[in-house]
Amino acid sequence: MKDKLTRRGFIGRAAAGSVAIGWLGAHRASRAFAAEAAKPALLGGTPVHTGGWAKWPQWREAWEPELLKVWRSGRWFRGSDGRIAEFERGYAQLLGAKRCLATASGTTALIVSLHVMDVDAGDEVIVSPYTFSASYNAILSHRALPVFADTDPATLTMDPASIESRITERTRAIMPVHIFGMPCDMDPINAMARKHKLAVVEDACQAWLAEYKGRKCGTLGDVGCFSFQESKHIPSGEGGAITSMSEELIDKCDSFHNCGRACGTNKGNGCFTRGGNYRMTQAQAVLLSQQFDKLVKETEIRRANADYLSANLCQIPGITPVRLPENSRAVWHLYAMRYDKAQFNGLTREKFAQAVSAEGVPCAGSVYHEQYYDGLLDEAIASRGFKRLWSAERLKAYRDSFQDLKGNKQVCETTVAITQNMLLADRSNIDHIIDAVRKIQANSAELAKAQG
Ligand SMILES: *Cc1c(COP(=O)(O)O)cnc(C)c1O
Repeated sequence: MKDKLTRRGFIGRAAAGSVAIGWLGAHRASRAFAAEAAKPALLGGTPVHTGGWAKWPQWREAWEPELLKVWRSGRWFRGSDGRIAEFERGYAQLLGAKRCLATASGTTALIVSLHVMDVDAGDEVIVSPYTFSASYNAILSHRALPVFADTDPATLTMDPASIESRITERTRAIMPVHIFGMPCDMDPINAMARKHKLAVVEDACQAWLAEYKGRKCGTLGDVGCFSFQESKHIPSGEGGAITSMSEELIDKCDSFHNCGRACGTNKGNGCFTRGGNYRMTQAQAVLLSQQFDKLVKETEIRRANADYLSANLCQIPGITPVRLPENSRAVWHLYAMRYDKAQFNGLTREKFAQAVSAEGVPCAGSVYHEQYYDGLLDEAIASRGFKRLWSAERLKAYRDSFQDLKGNKQVCETTVAITQNMLLADRSNIDHIIDAVRKIQANSAELAKAQG
């Protein structure tokens, strides 16, 4: 009993002597074993990583002259110059989309798109629950009901098999969300939409350059929506875009986003349709156009590092990297993985994330929770408008149906993630991420005990 050969005891001895490390051969393995042997930073040990991570957003002095030119010209709003059209051509080209329309934000891109796809008061839109609340709110702003498909725990995206049972005679559209830049399985989603004559509005607000079967996200449904908010991979403070393979749809979006003015194939006199002001400004467009090359290069770096992480993290018991649909490429706004505390001696997910973070590797132990219980939907369905539009029975059944989202509940309870800026680090620092998780795994019994 005294000299029980526990895994930790073995590791301690293996790391203590260079001879023991020698038989492991690979540099990687020996480094990892040394890291595992050490005391967790959360319990007073030395952190695995001390260098910090890339700041976000990033500024380049080289962008300044073009931006100054805009400010000095006094041509700031959309109608006063051609810089936004320049951005739209460039972004459409980057994605292989036929057209692009710049908007004020990702949220407004979604609002405009839903309107153009004829989502009206009293309609229903099937959406992924595992997303930023803006996806829900865009639907609610049309006085339409966001009906949640379930989440596939393996992919974290909309489970296509869960869509059909949720379609009613009021369903107008499906809104798949390519969460964390991981493409949804679009073939079965599009097939379901065709079968029931539904529109497909992609929430690609985290999926700039993500690919599904050789095509970019944002070109797979009827329209795709992007965000350029400050935290995103191509940021301009606020900003958004709608992309499509349809000239007509983008012309309609243009009209609605520009106070209802006629545009291209959407002909009329003056302000002839409903509309609002959802426009981007010139300076935002100029800042965005200058980031195209950076986006392309950084996407490759994030991908290579995410692949490397997945190949290594999948070997750690209790860690499961996310599965992507066949023949698709993610862009990793967050790098997420599933955490199984049973394999970590019962260490809670929150404590795991705290312990990994203490190693100098910031790790989020709760990404999206079950947000449909937060109150925004209760507020909507208790409103006068919603009560006029749906029967009390329908609204009750709707509220009760949140309990059926078993896959999503599981995902909300077991996902942990690191942020995109960390994926820009060089390989030796990416190794620290793996080392930190290994170290917490090796010390999980002690950490679990300490958590009480
Ligand atoms: C960021 C984001 C949005 C909203 O974009 P904003 O530009 O912040 O309005 C919508 N959906 C998802 C999935 C997002 O990540």
